[in-house]
Order: sequence, then structure tokens, then C-alpha cells
Amino acid sequence: MIVVRTVGDLRDALRDRRAGRIGLVPTMGALHEGHTTLLRAARAADDTVVASIFINPAQFTEQADLAAYPRTEAADLALAEQEGVDIVFAPDAAEVYPAGFATTVSVTGPVAETLEGAERGRAHFDGVATVVTKLLLAALPDAAYFGAKDAQQVAVIRRLVADLGIPVALVVCPTSRDADGLARSSRNTRLSPGERTRALAIPRALQAVTDAAAAGISDPQALRARADAVLEASGIRPEYVAFVDPETFAPVGVVDRPVLVAIAARVGSTRLIDNTVVATAQGRADTQAGGG
Ligand code: AMP
Repeated sequence: MIVVRTVGDLRDALRDRRAGRIGLVPTMGALHEGHTTLLRAARAADDTVVASIFINPAQFTEQADLAAYPRTEAADLALAEQEGVDIVFAPDAAEVYPAGFATTVSVTGPVAETLEGAERGRAHFDGVATVVTKLLLAALPDAAYFGAKDAQQVAVIRRLVADLGIPVALVVCPTSRDADGLARSSRNTRLSPGERTRALAIPRALQAVTDAAAAGISDPQALRARADAVLEASGIRPEYVAFVDPETFAPVGVVDRPVLVAIAARVGSTRLIDNTVVATAQGRADTQAGGG
């Protein structure tokens, strides 16, 4: 495994490897088993695996969040090596945003402006879109790997890749969870033991919605009430519990096809997000609604 810090060195390292498939796994470091899922998917499919580690200041809309973000490069490099990564691209901010940098890749519409885009502000997905575009152009991979945990990020990246015609296949890996159901996240290390227990209400709320939808409830408001009850029992007031189209993030009025249920909530001072796709319960929902 080699570690490169500049786009020039990354391109040099990749020059002789382009006959085979190149996979890119973009990360912000603080690697955990969620990231491992992506690295293993890339290792299984590609000849060369590139992992990038870059805490992208542009996508942080809270300075305190950026300051508190875990930085664990030595452990990250050890884990990357163990997972068979060939090249780690770990640039500094000046390499990604050199003096005079003045370009923003900005995806518009509900996909980037609702939910995380609304809560964290426009700059969040602008920062994500800009850095992912730069990483894709730096590595020019055949495939790039992202986690379903950040479903809206995936939708934003899908949009920009299609709109800009970037020749890369996007691979979305399922959300990796701890045994108790909590979605793995670099931010989980900030939870106190008590907060961590309360945070379990988030996957439980998603499960309650899944169960209710499977039982034929197709009204998002009725489904939301199930989620709210579970969250409230643990003292969690969500920023949002949303029922949206998984691609466009437009809100849906009835769950009659696969719908993304997304939750964001603060537990203590730690902001957590999670989501699931609820399967259509169309047959039963239609029957209950009298065929309408
Ligand atoms: P991050 O380092 O948090 O920016 O995440 C880098 C990539 O890992 C993103 O594509 C995330 O969606 C993905 N990821 C983070 N946590 C998980 C998880 N628990 N399961 C699956 N993918 C994840």
C-alpha cells in the first residue's frame, strides 16, 4: 500500500494500473466497519483500490463539528492496509483547495435542498458535490463506492455524475450496523453510554415504520406517528422524519412504492442520521383504501 498526498502523485501511481479496473472509496477517515464494507466491495470487484481520506472543510456548516471530527490517520492507514487497499490518497486542504479556488459544484432541487440540505445549509451538499467531483476527476475510477447510510448524499452524487457526464459507476453499499442496530458512524464515538442507548430509538423508529408499512399503512402521517412515538419514548425530538422519493427526495403523499424514510436527530450534542427504504405494501394498502 502506498500513501500519496498530491493529485500528481495519485495520477502517477495510477498510470500503469489503468488496464485494470480502478475503484475509489472516498472517506473522511476515522475508519470503522461501515467504511470496511465499502473497501471490501471495492476489493472484491476492482484490480486497484484507492481510498481517499480527506476531512472536507467545505461540507461542514458548523465549525464545532469540524473541530470535533475525529482524526485518526495512523489507525486509518493500518485498517486500509489490512483491507488490501492499494493506494491511500490523503491530501491536505491546500492540495484540494489551492489559493484562488473559486469553483463550486452545486446540485439544485429537492435532492440537495431538503432535509440535510435544509438542516445543515446549502453549503453542505455544495461542499460534498465539489469535493466528490474533484476526487472523481483526480482518480478517474471505473467505480466509486458510497454508503446507503448517507442516502441523500448518494442521490446528490448520482445527480451530478449524470448531469456532468462523469464516466464512473456508482456502487451503493448497504448501511452497516452495530449488533444492536445503531448505524455505524464516525460520530458515534462522541456518544456517552447513556446517549448511545437512547440513540437506539432511531433504528427502532425506522423498524416501527417498516413494520407498519408492511402491515398495510400507506399514509406517511400515520407512519410518522409511529416513528415519533418511538423517538419520544427515548426523549428524542427529531429534526426530521421524512418520507421521500429515494432518487429525487421529493416528498411522497402515499407509500405505494419504495419510499425512503430518513431520520435526523440530535442525541445530546451529537447529530445522527439514519434511513431505510420501506417496501411497498401496495396490495394491502389498496385493499384497505378501497382500491384507491
Ligand atoms: P464518511 O467518512 O463518514 O464521509 O463516510 C465515507 C463513506 O462511508 C460514505 O460513502 C458513507 O456513506 C459510508 N459510510 C459511513 N458509515 C457507513 C455505514 N454505517 N454503513 C455503510 N456505509 C457507511
